[in-house]
Amino acid sequence: TRRIVIVGAGQAGLAVAMQLRRLGFDGDVSLIGEEALPPYQRPPLSKAYLLGKLDDDRLLLKPLDFYRDQKIELLLGARVEAVDLAKREVRLAERLLPFDDLVLATGASPRPLPAEVGGGLAGLYYLRNQMDALRLGPELQSGRRLLILGGGYIGLEVAAIARSRGLEVTVLEMADRILQRVAAPQTSDFFRKLHAAHGVQIMESAGLLRLTGNGHVSGADLIDGRQLPADLAVIGIGVLPRTALAEAVGINVENGIRVDARGQTSAHGVWAVGDCCSLPFEGRCIRLESVPNANDQGAIVAHNILGMDRDYLPQPWFWSDQYDVKLQIAGLNQGYNRTVVRPAADNRSQSVWYFENDRLLSVDAMNEPRSYMLARRLLQKNASPRFEQIADPEFDPATLL
Ligand code: FAD
Repeated sequence: TRRIVIVGAGQAGLAVAMQLRRLGFDGDVSLIGEEALPPYQRPPLSKAYLLGKLDDDRLLLKPLDFYRDQKIELLLGARVEAVDLAKREVRLAERLLPFDDLVLATGASPRPLPAEVGGGLAGLYYLRNQMDALRLGPELQSGRRLLILGGGYIGLEVAAIARSRGLEVTVLEMADRILQRVAAPQTSDFFRKLHAAHGVQIMESAGLLRLTGNGHVSGADLIDGRQLPADLAVIGIGVLPRTALAEAVGINVENGIRVDARGQTSAHGVWAVGDCCSLPFEGRCIRLESVPNANDQGAIVAHNILGMDRDYLPQPWFWSDQYDVKLQIAGLNQGYNRTVVRPAADNRSQSVWYFENDRLLSVDAMNEPRSYMLARRLLQKNASPRFEQIADPEFDPATLL
């Protein structure tokens, strides 16, 4: 029987396994994960789960029965240490597992804070795994001073959760504005105001010289000479794709395990999906770190493993929850050169429309599900409104559908 081995029992790995079965594949499927928990959702780790408001059961993507019913061999607490392409087998601590096709779904890990700037201190927290959330959650106690390094989505979500727990929160962002890497200034402005209104101190263009403390973090020295006190720190300065297994066997890695539109790596019969890979998108090669991408790309790769030749055409979308604001993003704004803010009913909502010249690329919708849905449908249909139309508050984009 044909044997498909999936390394990484996360969102993308599970998506591949599920789709293989849906397509009627009746060979062997092994899903191998180094974590103890069966595949689970990560988004709640910086939201409800961090607050202790979501049970482990509800964090799981599928109940354990599912794997038995679907005949998916789930190996947990099992780390793949190496791949042998010639022998077509993977090495675990205590066994070798042969494969016909191999799927790398190893995800990403938080970019570590270097030791020379205090990365080795106690009292620092990262947020990628369930265990990380279980460690951080109990530390979020009222009155403590939390320093968050990095004003990206994870940092800002943790800031919101920590405020609701009564901590004093400072977000330190090295760039000149929060969310700089992922959003336009208008979206950054919206979230800066939102956090300020909730009492979070946001410091932008604020370079960290080093975290200070005698064993345990007690503060931070900034490059400009300012000093901040801190009882604990959360590090949210981006992630690194987990490419080591691929690199060790000479598979092409460029900002992630490089795959083609079908999800194949540079090695025959070896595929990569989710956060660990970099994929072609509109002439560029990008990483998409999101649940929808893990699911959609995973499903396509399952087709291709079974010889059904399908290109993956990403339809990116994403969300983030902060306080009572739900941000929904349709599309990908890379390459934008102008934006329009569409007025909304109140100052708790707005939408930001990104264009490259006259082509709509994406929309950030803050408490604006209608704009989000509209944008998704426009992008799906490739029915771009003109910039002037969107800039006209009287214009209703729904008329284009
Ligand atoms: P992962 O889910 O990380 O799974 C990879 C798995 O592989 C891990 O369990 C890892 O331990 C395992 N693994 C790696 N190497 C090995 C090995 N050698 N042997 C065995 N196992 C191995 N996305 C959104 O769309 N919306 C959100 O709101 C959102 N919020 C997020 C909040 C947080 C705190 C985090 C961390 C992520 C969030 N994301 C969000 C991103 C989303 O969770 C990821 O894009 C998604 O999980 C990627 O799936 P993946 O399968 O590629 O990687």
